[in-house]
Amino acid sequence: MRMLGVLGGMSWESTITYYQLLNRGVRDRLGGLHSAPLLLHSVDFAQIAAQQKAGEWEAAGQVLAEAAKGLAGAGATALLLATNTMHKVAGAIEAVVDIPLLHIGDAVGQALCERGVERAALLGTRFTMQEDFYRVRLDRKFGIQVLVPDAEGMLEIDRVIFQELCVGQFLPAARAFYLDQLAQLKARGAQAAILGCTEIGLLLDGCASPLPLVDSAERHVAMGLEWMLGR
Ligand code: GLU
Repeated sequence: MRMLGVLGGMSWESTITYYQLLNRGVRDRLGGLHSAPLLLHSVDFAQIAAQQKAGEWEAAGQVLAEAAKGLAGAGATALLLATNTMHKVAGAIEAVVDIPLLHIGDAVGQALCERGVERAALLGTRFTMQEDFYRVRLDRKFGIQVLVPDAEGMLEIDRVIFQELCVGQFLPAARAFYLDQLAQLKARGAQAAILGCTEIGLLLDGCASPLPLVDSAERHVAMGLEWMLGR
């Protein structure tokens, strides 16, 4: 198996999901006592979140670029950046390492294409929902049109991510709000929904959703497993 580097801690709640799913994936494919060869650099998310809020993306990119160099130097053969939002600075990471960054947007785009989806709802942080780095990639590379909630909906979805999900609170009110947003996006023509924040799967786990869900964390892990196992 090839060693995979994970840039995590954004937040650690969902980095646990990555660690668990990568190991389960290896166990399911290889059996016995097999587990995933991983290197993890888990950051202090308070620093990154403050930089996001202040618009200091270059500084945040430098933090992740340094961490990526460390992982590559320690023997990682590819990287998973375990957050959608920080793919805004994917270029800063790719510029300093010569191993591939397995892009979460590509993992999501491929899953949507396999399901024949052309119009997808997107839930994530306000950065992921509003800015170009995620939506334009899905459009240009995969021909997927992205629908997002209205301004008020986006604000509440973003608030829940930072004030609840990233600190391990998965509350019924938030669950109901997210499902209602998905129903509204379905009415606007979405055929499926991208859980474009790695913690949302933890909130909606086991829920009956009005739309088929593509969980970015799950798809990203699947991409990492393929790399690891050389398929
Ligand atoms: N984990 C989240 C994401 O997938 C949000 C945390 C962050 O801002 O990085 O975007």
